[in-house]
Amino acid sequence: LSSTIKVDDFTARLFRIYMQVLEEGLAQTVFLGINRSDYMFDCGGTAALRQIEINTIAASFGGLTSRTADVHRLVLNVLGKTEEASHLLPNNPAKGLALGIAKAWELYGSQRAVVMFLVEDVQRNIFDQRCVENELWNRNIRVVRKRFRDVFEQGSLDASRRLFVDGQEVAVVYYREGYVPQVYDQQNWEARLLLERSRAVKCPDIATQLAGTKKVQQELSRPGTLEKLLPGHPEAIARIRATFAGLYSLDEGEEGDRIAATAIADPDRFVLKPQREGGGNNLYGEELREVLEKIKDSPERTSYILMDKIKPQPALNYLLRAHSPLQVSKCISELGIFGVYVRQGQELVLNQAAGHLLRTKAIEHADGGVAAGVAVLDTPYLV
Ligand code: ADP
Ligand code: MG
Repeated sequence: LSSTIKVDDFTARLFRIYMQVLEEGLAQTVFLGINRSDYMFDCGGTAALRQIEINTIAASFGGLTSRTADVHRLVLNVLGKTEEASHLLPNNPAKGLALGIAKAWELYGSQRAVVMFLVEDVQRNIFDQRCVENELWNRNIRVVRKRFRDVFEQGSLDASRRLFVDGQEVAVVYYREGYVPQVYDQQNWEARLLLERSRAVKCPDIATQLAGTKKVQQELSRPGTLEKLLPGHPEAIARIRATFAGLYSLDEGEEGDRIAATAIADPDRFVLKPQREGGGNNLYGEELREVLEKIKDSPERTSYILMDKIKPQPALNYLLRAHSPLQVSKCISELGIFGVYVRQGQELVLNQAAGHLLRTKAIEHADGGVAAGVAVLDTPYLV
């Protein structure tokens, strides 16, 4: 991220906290990751599932989508389509995510300590979170919901950097907030630093949030990088690499100049991505061309990466939304696979897939997910 943090303030700020925590020495010994790797089925060239991105912070909809297959199964059965209904996979990410959180809580090792969901000021996705929360209550693990502001006002560390918020010891901090710059004022940055310095299990810790940037995704695709990370696993490397779309660095230099010129000449082949999460930040087509023209000779260019545009085969479908007419549209889908891991020191304790998420949207929307009001929750139908 060395080039990115010279020009991208938000990434730089996170990186400074990461460095500060490393210098002090990590108090955290248990690590919990809840990831969602997203794919589209690319039909240009060799057909394959290609990765859009991996989400390492606040990967959402695992809760609500634990119900989607039930809705579709019921509808099919009511229509007498029992054969079709049997093609729907069971799917319960909420349970899988909670299992990871519960494992991390257990390894933290204090019965009295709580799991803290770090949530938004305006709680737009609370019911998705509640599905995971309820799985924890069912395991007799106590959950509190707090905002950065609450942590700033009520949070403290004791001498061994155990985290207390409002008098309660916190074992696990599960971030469902904190991935967009607008959230952070000075006090919220201080709260974030306090959390990162603590012994509590952060999901994710700040290093893992940084590893989820588009820049790191692009660097991982460079020839030789997977080989360095997974020595002695050529087959695994080949399978992983087969999911990569073309990813290109816009760092200053010849390589960046060349790909910038190619994208300006043929913008519809690419997506221009800044280091942001949450949908609606990427640039396509004419807008991509205009922005790249403007920044192609400035260091600002390096805050973006370029990616080949993935072209899925559209299918006809109905997008059911409150207050909008039901009409058939040409749609494309994006498949997310949830993964959960827990590590204690150098020992990997748990590492497994936790279910899937299918989001479907009309083809006229280049960007944006469910929260952005563009896509809807869907269910894969196996053929
Ligand atoms: P965010 O972090 O904002 O979710 P994504 O990389 O997931 O960023 O991009 C947002 C959306 O843009 C995706 O859900 C997908 O619909 C679309 N998109 C992203 N990358 C590509 C690509 N390479 N080809 C086609 N569509 C893409
Ligand atoms: Mg995304």
